[in-house]
Amino acid sequence: MTIIAIDGPAASGKSSVAKRLARRIGFFYVNSGSMYRAVTWELLRQGIDPSNPESVQSSIASMDLGCGFNAEGESFIRINAQIPDAELKESGVNNSVSTVSAIPAVRHLIVARLRALVNEHNVVMEGRDIGSAVFPDAPHKFYLDATPEIRRLRRAAEGLTDSIDLRDKQDSSRAEAPLQIAEGACVVDTSHLTLDGVVEKIFQLLTDAGLTPR
Ligand code: C5P
Repeated sequence: MTIIAIDGPAASGKSSVAKRLARRIGFFYVNSGSMYRAVTWELLRQGIDPSNPESVQSSIASMDLGCGFNAEGESFIRINAQIPDAELKESGVNNSVSTVSAIPAVRHLIVARLRALVNEHNVVMEGRDIGSAVFPDAPHKFYLDATPEIRRLRRAAEGLTDSIDLRDKQDSSRAEAPLQIAEGACVVDTSHLTLDGVVEKIFQLLTDAGLTPR
């Protein structure tokens, strides 16, 4: 199966680009951040302190975490029999997700699920460590970036409360699988490109690299 890894900081445009690219080339789409968000949401719902690794670890040991693809070929996550959606963007989740995702036990749980998702499908997977840690041998890796000002504006335009600077700092400085440019990744600055412009650019790079879309 072919994997296209797209990593980058918060609000760099990864989700929109990855989803649109996947549709264009007939691949499935995986949003790995939503899995870290779902675990965080469930921990908060259970009243677990996200900054206490022992409590988090014992809670996730009994979490029923499943994931798969919907009819549109987009990943979904089921956690303790619930399928959270809009809840994943709540400010409580935004504020705690980087703390939770820095806990190695959480990463191991999710990375195993992410790896299993590519057994049967070609996927575009986006996140922070897809090209560096989850699939270091992925044949196509991209790192999307944009200036901090532009990323802040994009997030504000979505009407969301999200301390993206703090999240980026936490995500880049954690010990396990930090946000970084993966070896062999092509860096795309999206600051002054439209969504279609970024998708077109990546599509061209993939075509030049020999990927023949369906
Ligand atoms: O992509 P999104 O902003 O929804 O990701 C939410 C958070 O999940 C990130 O800030 C990061 O802490 C965590 N994450 C991660 N590794 C990934 C994807 C997301 O640690 N591959």
